[in-house]
Amino acid sequence: MNGGFKPYVPVAERRKSAEQAMGRMRRSGVTLQPVTIEGRHIAQTFWGKAWCDHLESYSDFENRLPRGRTYVRNGSVCHLEILRGRINAKVQGSSMYDVAVDIRPLPGPSWDSIKKRCTGKIVSLLDLLQGRLSAGVMEVVTDRETGLFPSPREIRMQCSCPDWATMCKHVAAVLYGVGARLDTQPELLFLLRGVDHDELIDARAEAAVQEVVSGGKGRRISEKDLGAIFGLNVDVGAPPARIPPRSRAGKVPAKKGAPRVKRKRKPAKSAEKRRVKPRPPSRKKPR
Ligand SMILES: [Zn+2]
Repeated sequence: MNGGFKPYVPVAERRKSAEQAMGRMRRSGVTLQPVTIEGRHIAQTFWGKAWCDHLESYSDFENRLPRGRTYVRNGSVCHLEILRGRINAKVQGSSMYDVAVDIRPLPGPSWDSIKKRCTGKIVSLLDLLQGRLSAGVMEVVTDRETGLFPSPREIRMQCSCPDWATMCKHVAAVLYGVGARLDTQPELLFLLRGVDHDELIDARAEAAVQEVVSGGKGRRISEKDLGAIFGLNVDVGAPPARIPPRSRAGKVPAKKGAPRVKRKRKPAKSAEKRRVKPRPPSRKKPR
């Protein structure tokens, strides 16, 4: 023993203990949401990566966070649950430890400002959740000071382990685990910050797009009508020089005369590379 600290437990042994403990918890009726990392990167999509990048950008965290990477990768985060303002987790170390992270809700004025700056720029919930956002919107939501992600002073962390200091490897693993979870459930970021992501969607634009997409049978919307709805977002001729045209697999070419909606956005940096699971986004409002 080393002064009260538990001895180092090899990964394989820790993994085995984790599986046994998870089995016991499941049998006793506990619903576990383990973090499973597939592939080389902890987070692979826009929101997951943005979460990790944000936390790593703080010097308070940069020295301590890396210790959590191995833990989260090898399946030590046996449970991770994201609630409004709270992350509850169970991490297998030399024992099973309970981690709790409290995150302050996004202050009202900050949320109002984000909404204002994104007005009319996010056409659909799917675009928002899959991170298909214009460079301008990305800048707003990921801004270190005024974006959606919490600053260190808005985060309170606790762990039941004996070597608990400001941030132990269990808490670090949980913070990375949140990045991995946002890959598949990006809407949880909004729940965590206590805001309703639906408020970012331009409802009129989404309705108009739905009508165009399902159109053909019903009345056609003229470009003039669309212009009134979208303001500047209607493609009435050549695309703006700065936005390169891109082709999408399976896209049906627009019929002559049919209105085309130009979404002012660029794909996320690695949009082509990342693997997006075809999971329909939840429309449930966070509570
Ligand atoms: Zn700990």
